[in-house]
Order: sequence, then C-alpha cells, then structure tokens
Amino acid sequence: MRITSQREIILEELQRLKTHPTADELYEVVKKRLPRISIATVYRNLERLSEAGMIHKLEYGGRQKRFDGDTSPHSHVVCVRCGRISDVETRDDMEILDIVVDSKGYQILKCGVQFEGICPFCQERSKSKKD
Ligand SMILES: [Zn+2]
Ligand SMILES: [Zn+2]
Repeated sequence: MRITSQREIILEELQRLKTHPTADELYEVVKKRLPRISIATVYRNLERLSEAGMIHKLEYGGRQKRFDGDTSPHSHVVCVRCGRISDVETRDDMEILDIVVDSKGYQILKCGVQFEGICPFCQERSKSKKD
C-alpha cells in the first residue's frame, strides 16, 4: 500500500477548500488528518508546492499570505477589510489570456483579474455598528 505523504494530504485539503485559506487556517484542517503535523511543516510544504507550481500563493495588499489549490486561470475578488478572497467565474479571462499568448508570445504561468471591494459580511458588520 502506498503511504500518502504529508505534502499530498496538504495539497488534497487545499484543493478541497474553496476559501483560499491562510497557512494557519489550512493547518487547522490538515491537523484533523495528521494530528502530529506542525505548523512549520505546513508552511514548508506550501512553499514547496507553490514553487513547483502546484498551488498558487496569493499576496494581496501586504496581508497574510493565502493559498489557492486551483491553478487554472481565474479571477479573484478580495475584501479590503477582512482579506477574504473569492473566485470569480468569468469567461473573459480566457479571451485576455489568448490575446496575451498570441500577441506577446509569453508562456503564461498565472492569470486573472483582481477585484477589490468590501464583502457582504463586512458590509453587515459596518451597518450594525452604525445602528
Ligand atoms: Zn470582508
Ligand atoms: Zn482562486
């Protein structure tokens, strides 16, 4: 029987989550399957996976790094208050990608438009503060 490595479990859990977790958030999830894993191991494996291009590291506005298990081209909307990141499904991304590849001759590693805004949760929070 093949032994699943820690890295494979980290990758599996990250791909399952659609929330673009921070290393700490992912650690909490991975710990349920690997009770003895350390946060340092999670950090190290995330760095290796992102160097290998198997996951994406998201660094928006100097906030805590988040990780994305979905490496297909897609866009993100980022909350400027809490740092939450959601995927945006657009077909136009692919069109822009084709233009860049065809006219600029680049091999594209990563692509997507980044939107910034205030998420519904933060909007609710600021509303209830005012009332
Ligand atoms: Zn928010
Ligand atoms: Zn994403």
